[in-house]
Order: sequence, then structure tokens, then C-alpha cells
Amino acid sequence: MSNEELTQNPPRKINLRRPDVMEAVQAQVLSHYRSELVDRIRAKGHVLSADGLLTVKLAKEFGFCYGVERAIDLAYAARKVFPNQPIYILGEIIHNPEVNDQIRAMGIKSLSGKEKNADINDLKKDDVVIIPAFGTEVSTRAMLQEKGCIFVDTTCGDVMSVWKRVRQYSRDTVTSIIHGKAWHEETKATSSQTGAGHYLVVFTLAETDYVCNYIVSGGNKTDFLEKFKGAYSNGFDPDLHLAAIGVANQTTMLRGETEEVQRRLKKAMLTKFGEAAVDQHFRFFDTICGATQDRQDALEKLLAEPLDLLLVIGGYNSSNTSHLAEMGEAKLPTFFIKNATKMVSESEIVHYDLHRQEEVTAMNWLPGGKITVGITAGASCPNNLIEDTIRRLFQLRGVAVQELLT
Ligand code: SF4
Repeated sequence: MSNEELTQNPPRKINLRRPDVMEAVQAQVLSHYRSELVDRIRAKGHVLSADGLLTVKLAKEFGFCYGVERAIDLAYAARKVFPNQPIYILGEIIHNPEVNDQIRAMGIKSLSGKEKNADINDLKKDDVVIIPAFGTEVSTRAMLQEKGCIFVDTTCGDVMSVWKRVRQYSRDTVTSIIHGKAWHEETKATSSQTGAGHYLVVFTLAETDYVCNYIVSGGNKTDFLEKFKGAYSNGFDPDLHLAAIGVANQTTMLRGETEEVQRRLKKAMLTKFGEAAVDQHFRFFDTICGATQDRQDALEKLLAEPLDLLLVIGGYNSSNTSHLAEMGEAKLPTFFIKNATKMVSESEIVHYDLHRQEEVTAMNWLPGGKITVGITAGASCPNNLIEDTIRRLFQLRGVAVQELLT
């Protein structure tokens, strides 16, 4: 089908948000992911303490964001509305292994990623396909639309705002410089929204500096294209397409870093084109989502308090969670764990090393004596996993949490 035909034949829409469906779904979601303990700690000022032994301080904002809650609700609703029909999902609904296990246990098959157990080529008309919270690439969507699939589109509104931004850049012949991870589903989806325009994804400040140097002084085009292989649009030419740039970012990046990326790129454009002309060559819109920002702000406040260590809970492939872990690491001993089983004993913890990108074992991680532990969790981490972590922590100190609450 041509683009015109795809526009004329939009995917079939089903109203999943019927009151009867949502009532049942919310009860089921709460039973899977809610934590009464976490609710009670929140109500008690985010602190739980066993005097003389251990104090746990929860960040003021943590865990599930609105986009993730909506995506999970819609996936559960799809199962309710189509109880006997095969349902498929593009990759993972969110980046949390426990939630994804739950989705698989509901018989929802994955069309891509590590747990792939179905193929897009085998789909038929009226098969139900869930698009995850990070969205999907334009070409994948078109392929599914062409097959006549029914979409359950859980793409977060904040992700769609970034798409709007890069589409505008393309319309204005401005190259989108996307601060993000070129391999992340959201950034792939955002890149694809540039359509016939161009994009370049930068991840680190070192990469940003490389681009800035090229803008100001030029360089070897072959080296440039090799360095950013897989992170730019077809036909992208750094000698032509860095003359007018617009910065956008993956919604879950570290705020301070994204600001630095745009500051450095703007400085390069100022040097190249001068103050009077810079507005014709440089644009910037902050597209970090509110939930990511709130979690980073809350952690910053928590880190200003005296803490002995920080636990960050979430999926290891979760972008917003890894940035929380980065923030902690810069200040104090920080352990990024996906669930409570990683706290093997008082002396041993298995945690994710962001630099080695693998799980490592640390010994003597929990100091003796009276300690305060900070806890936060990424936007895709359910409260029941946070509860397990808190319970395990107190258990390692020989305290039953129930006694603290009564
Ligand atoms: S982290 Fe932000 S962009 Fe991602 S689902 Fe949550 S609210 Fe939406």
C-alpha cells in the first residue's frame, strides 16, 4: 500500500476503555503490582525506621509513571476484550522483566526482542497487536497496518510530543540531533518520524564534542560516518546536513546531560554562524518527560540528605532507571538491582554495573551499625518489587517489617 492508501485505511480502532472493562482491569493490575506497605510508608512521610538499626528513606517520586500505568492497563484490557484471540506485542510493553513475564503469562506473544516467539510475517487481518509505551518505527506500523491488524496503541503522549517536534524539524529542512540511545526502541521510533528529513543520534558528551568539532572545523567524513554508524538517517552527509540542526531528546535522559548537549551544540553553531544568524541554524526543545524529571528531582533531594547507600530498583534495560543509578553513583555507594533476590545476604549483593553493562557481585555492601538507606525506583518498576526490597532489607537486619507498622 502507498502512504496515501495507508492514510485512507487507518487501523481498526477498538474502544478498550469501557467502564466494565477498566473496572476489572484495574482490580487485576492492583492485585499484581500494588503494595500496601509502600502506600503506608508514603503516608508516613516516606520513611520507615527500626531505631538503632536501619532507616529506609524512599524518594518522594518513584516507580510507575502515568505512561507506564496506561500501557499496562491497555494491555490487560486487550486480553479482557479479546479473551480467545491471539494477541501480539512489539517487543516489551515496558522495560521491567517481572511485568513482561506477567504479560507473557497472559498468552501475549512477542514479535521482536529477546523473547520473540512470533513473527510479523505470520500475522493476519484482524490480529491484535499491542504497540508499547515507547511507540514503534513508522515502517513497522505501516507493515502491520497493511496486514489489517487491530492496534492497541499504548504509545505515551510524551513520546508523541517528541515525534511532533522532529517532524516539524524535517518540514523545515532542519536535521534532528537526538540525544538518546540509538538502539533504544523509543529513539528508533523517534528517528523514523523524521521521514524524508535527516537525523543523527548522539549519546555521550564525547560524541557531542566530536559533532561540535566537525561543525566548527570540518573533518574526515568517512571517519564521521563510521563513528556514528547506525545512528543517522539514510543519505546523511555531515558536510551538508549539519548546517541547520534542531535538538530533541529521548524522554528519559538525564536532564543535566541533555542541557549540556544542547549548550555545546549551540556554542558550536554560534562559533560557525555568528550571533546574528544562529537562530536560522539552531533550535532546541526540551523533550524530557515530566515523570522522568520528577523522579530525578526527587532523587536529587534525597541525595542531599545523609545516606549510607542507595538502592535503585528497576529493569537493567530501563533508560530512566539507569540515569537514577548514575545520579546515585556520583554521590555514594549505589546498587542497581532488578529485584530483592539480588540482596543475597548481609555481605553479598548482585547488582548491575552500568559501565560493564553486566551483573556483578559486591561483598560487604551493607555497613554494620546504625545506617540509613535511600531507595528509588524507575518509572517501569511496580510497587510490589519495591516492597520486596524493603522487606528483605529489614529481614537482613533481623527486623520484621510488620512490627514496625503496628
Ligand atoms: S517515562 Fe515518560 S515518556 Fe516514558 S512512559 Fe513514562 S511518562 Fe511516558
